[in-house]
Amino acid sequence: MSAVIAEQAETTSTTTSGIREGAFGNARTLTCRECGHEVELGPHYACMECFGPLEIAYDFPAVTREQIEAGPRNIWRYKALLPVPTDIEQSPNMEPGFTRLLKAGNLGRELGIDNLWVKDDSTNPTNSFKDRVVACALSAATEFGSKVFACPSTGNLANAVAAAGARAGIKTVVFIPSNLEKPKQVNSAVFTESLVAVNGNYDDVNKLASEIAGEEDGWAFVNVNVRPYYAEGSKTLGYEIAEQLGWRLPDQIVIPVASGSQLTKVHKAFQELIKLGLVEDKPYKVFGAQANGCSPVSAAYKGGTDAIRPVKPDTIAKSLAIGNPADGIYVLDICRQTGGAVEDITDDEVRQGIVLLARTEGIFTETAGGTTVGVLKKLVETGQLDTSLETVVINTGHGLKTLDAVSDSVGPVATIEPSYAAFVQTGLA
Ligand SMILES: *Cc1c(COP(=O)(O)O)cnc(C)c1O
Ligand SMILES: [Zn+2]
Repeated sequence: MSAVIAEQAETTSTTTSGIREGAFGNARTLTCRECGHEVELGPHYACMECFGPLEIAYDFPAVTREQIEAGPRNIWRYKALLPVPTDIEQSPNMEPGFTRLLKAGNLGRELGIDNLWVKDDSTNPTNSFKDRVVACALSAATEFGSKVFACPSTGNLANAVAAAGARAGIKTVVFIPSNLEKPKQVNSAVFTESLVAVNGNYDDVNKLASEIAGEEDGWAFVNVNVRPYYAEGSKTLGYEIAEQLGWRLPDQIVIPVASGSQLTKVHKAFQELIKLGLVEDKPYKVFGAQANGCSPVSAAYKGGTDAIRPVKPDTIAKSLAIGNPADGIYVLDICRQTGGAVEDITDDEVRQGIVLLARTEGIFTETAGGTTVGVLKKLVETGQLDTSLETVVINTGHGLKTLDAVSDSVGPVATIEPSYAAFVQTGLA
């Protein structure tokens, strides 16, 4: 008996904080984004010195394109660049990622952009890019021995957490603003018994989640106390775009901004690929997209200030409705430094963006994608985007989740009796 215990103690070597050796792959430490203070890998998210956000730092080994290409057709092909164990494919997860990068010739012609691509993340397991971040958060929560997998959400995150938790056999509790679109509520409730609708906006829900995380032991709120691990999942969007372009960075990229995490991580991914020698170093411009009913980052960009003033969201782009964006300041930095911009559009333009992408490329996007495509159009019209440069626009979610946004704009052109004569009268013959 004691021999067995001794053997187990030898094979499962742990660090001083009780974390399994290799649990986070090549991740080395948590580093404060503000003051650079380092913390051992663990369930931490805020710097003890300055309360700044913690970010994962790595000791990357030499990674080759061939090694990556030999990996699975999901985000785990980049596991060497993520805070996950080397045997991550063995744990039950949704295997998100490696979504299609489509040449958008029709939309490009419509907008006068020579070389345009759509990275279509609506085809992920729960139909948004959130499956990427949740997969990384779930891995970390498992390593921390968390009992409950939770999140405050603007909709898609709750869908992804509830589904991933179901598949992993871990209890989930997800929190959403009570005015959320019905399809997004159902898309969570099918996977979990514990969907909690909160009377308030996302920022209220987020505050409540932080409070619960402080009170309850063993709760992993993916985007609160597991945020450093969660956020790294968005890097895979950047890796995939580069790989799918033939190991090249685009010249320009347009990304929707809610908390701003995704945009900052796509930039981080591009920088890592350059450092690892996996792509050639070159300048690229990063553009952020918001709906003007919730555009605190765009407002700061246009105001030429670093001060992001929180707003009360009022827009149909509910998945982007974060009035006090945690990474807004870093979005500003990146967009300014790279020569990009942050732009916002009206709800009507969001609806038009959805229909434009659908009619030109056969892709039905949700309001976040309508925002991104609408902003792309506005960037062209205002001369902020160079139409001669290779451009990628990210579609982060699926239109079936926000049907109401366009259900009054599109519908039957005619309702007729089942006769040829009636059909001829429509003028469609
Ligand atoms: C969450 C979300 C975003 C924005 O994510 P952040 O990383 O918080 O900026 C964009 N699009 C969709 C569809 C989302 O659900
Ligand atoms: Zn700090």
